[in-house]
Amino acid sequence: MATEKRDYYEVLGVARNAPDEEVKRAYRGSGFGGGIFETFFGGGGGAGAEDRRRGSDLRYDMQIRLEEAAFGAEKQIEIEKLDTCEKCGGSGAAPGSRRISCSTCGGRGQVVSSRGFFQISQTCPRCHGAGEIIEKPCEKCRGEGRVEKLSRVKLQVPAGIREGTRLRSLRNGEAGIGGAPPGDLYVVIHIKEHQIFQREGDDLYCEVPIPFSVAALGGEIDVPTLEGKAHLKVTAGTQSGQMFKLRGKGIVNVNGRGHGDLFARLIVEVPSRLNGEQRRKLEEFAALCGEENTPIRKGFFEKAKEFFK
Ligand SMILES: [Zn+2]
Ligand SMILES: [Zn+2]
Repeated sequence: MATEKRDYYEVLGVARNAPDEEVKRAYRGSGFGGGIFETFFGGGGGAGAEDRRRGSDLRYDMQIRLEEAAFGAEKQIEIEKLDTCEKCGGSGAAPGSRRISCSTCGGRGQVVSSRGFFQISQTCPRCHGAGEIIEKPCEKCRGEGRVEKLSRVKLQVPAGIREGTRLRSLRNGEAGIGGAPPGDLYVVIHIKEHQIFQREGDDLYCEVPIPFSVAALGGEIDVPTLEGKAHLKVTAGTQSGQMFKLRGKGIVNVNGRGHGDLFARLIVEVPSRLNGEQRRKLEEFAALCGEENTPIRKGFFEKAKEFFK
């Protein structure tokens, strides 16, 4: 628990002396669809009563596919959070009820207690600093104006978004107390690993196996792209590991600065499970080959000569 607490402070930048209640609230709540949902930073810390009554900002970690990151997507997330009570419309008051001065703090919003020589002034626990309370609280939300419920939030994920980006969804955090302003929702984007492509910035990388004969003779191959496929001309004598660039076939830049490229690394596949005829033909072929067909190998052995003495 101690480490979790420290992480929370470090990640969210909440003061280390934040009240325990605030930290506890951070761990309340649950995620849907694999997301982690927690209070981002407490509504407290501000000076005015209104600040203390404002709803907390929330954080939601969302997993998306690489295709969604590349092309953008409209996502809907479901979160269990404190939302405006429908019964009282967020006011916290039962029908026909008035607001009266809080008797706990005498309308000041603060209560003073003595601890030895010190006098400590704290936000009134009854009115949460407002100085007034509702005569007859709404029975559904017990006067808070907000209740825990499942809410759906729509979110536009922009094309080209990168791992770790934090999207802010205004006013979609926790509802405030008694109709005070809601917090914001911060959605942190995590991009799932792709089966074929690796991403680096706006560029994509993939490995494409090609038959040994195509590498030797040259030809045209299909290369997968996020949009479908592209054709690539392979020159005769292509070596395994050679990289080909497909200009503009990467990911669109999220700030409108063009497109990244797609880099296809060709992997030459040596034929396996040869049948008798194939084996014979390949042996015939090998017999016809000389040093001039393998210049890389020749160069290597020239350099390595002294090691073979
Ligand atoms: Zn209510
Ligand atoms: Zn009070």
